[in-house]
Amino acid sequence: MKVDRSKGFWNEPEETMSKEEKRRLDDKKLVFIFKHAYNNSPFYKKLYREAGLTPEDIKSRDDITRIPLLTKPELQEAQKKDPPFGGLLGVPLTELSEIFISPGPIYEGGTAEEDEKLLEAGAKAAFSCGLRPGDIVHNSFLYHLVPAGLGLHLCLRRMGCTVIPVGIGQTIFQAIIMRDLGATAYAGTPSFLAMIGEEAKKGGIDPINDLKLEVGLFTAEPLPESLRKHLVDTFDMIVRQMYGTADVGGISRECPEVSGMHLEETLVVELIDPKTLEPVAPGEEGDVTVTLPHKLASPFIRFRTGDGSVLSEEKCGCGRTAPKLLRILGRVDQLTKVKGMFVHPINIKATIQKHPELGNYEATVDRPELSDVLTIKIEFEGTGETLPKDTIEAQKALVDEFKENIRVKAEVELVPKGLIKKTKEQIIDLRKFD
Ligand SMILES: [Zn+2]
Repeated sequence: MKVDRSKGFWNEPEETMSKEEKRRLDDKKLVFIFKHAYNNSPFYKKLYREAGLTPEDIKSRDDITRIPLLTKPELQEAQKKDPPFGGLLGVPLTELSEIFISPGPIYEGGTAEEDEKLLEAGAKAAFSCGLRPGDIVHNSFLYHLVPAGLGLHLCLRRMGCTVIPVGIGQTIFQAIIMRDLGATAYAGTPSFLAMIGEEAKKGGIDPINDLKLEVGLFTAEPLPESLRKHLVDTFDMIVRQMYGTADVGGISRECPEVSGMHLEETLVVELIDPKTLEPVAPGEEGDVTVTLPHKLASPFIRFRTGDGSVLSEEKCGCGRTAPKLLRILGRVDQLTKVKGMFVHPINIKATIQKHPELGNYEATVDRPELSDVLTIKIEFEGTGETLPKDTIEAQKALVDEFKENIRVKAEVELVPKGLIKKTKEQIIDLRKFD
């Protein structure tokens, strides 16, 4: 099917509303969600009381900077202390339609009413990226634990697409499925589609002539221009990206102009200077900080994603009026995204500390070809009781242990003690996102 993927809106009134209208909505929504969280979530009540705030203190969007910022480690800490939800829930447990587990882990509830809003937002984003009702979408996002696969599946169904729920893995089989079912669209990570392309060629499937992909919807990892071009050349398709996080969902999406990603209209988004914690002006780099006014079950208010970006308020040729995130600059603190998953050095350290025979370590992430490679170099004495004495065996055991603890496969390199001067409490990022 050849359709015009460059025109139209999913929700024109919302996507073209004026700045003043958006401001009026933000005023109302912020007051509402602040009150809701204060009155219904013990976690927020405590946080806001300690900040000296009462539900009446937030009267409009202008008051947002009075509200304390929130980070992922703070949520993790709260849930660890008071499992499973850390007092975060803003509705009774019986009202939850599902519970998602985002990396951390962080347990998040949702209600049926929220789902409705999320489906509309997701459909709107997918439409902006060029997907259309009637598309057959090959969905390679993970379907279990995290919201990505299932969440996007439901959004695409809402839009009127046919979805093939493939998930990850079995690369060549994915190419065969795409060919046999005539998939017109792909949803997943860009590096994984690049790998499918390579495997397809090796297996005698021509990605342009044997596959019918017209558009790809990418998220969960950076999309450097070189990789975008590679995918366009390999599949002869439109390549568009959305940006979001596993905790808060979709935040922004590209449009046919491909000059940044429009912010989702229903969110209140700020960019915060990671040092002064003050909002930055358009054009300046800041930590993308999100308030989700519709999320009543697990409220997220002034949540710092840890992703750096720059906001543009310039008029866009597509007609959408929401400001755009120009590009995602990577982490602003220690969180690092590897293969689309957040990895925190705390979790690497926790694994290493279990073994007294291990010493200083150094973690790096690089992208030598199309996929991220996380390498953890660790000092090893080979005299421990929990790990095999033999270096190769110990390395294998650690690869499995890391996979379980950080949910990403890491290359483990064991070196004699004394070779790593000092542990750096961060993952060194060697990837180049041009
Ligand atoms: Zn636009």
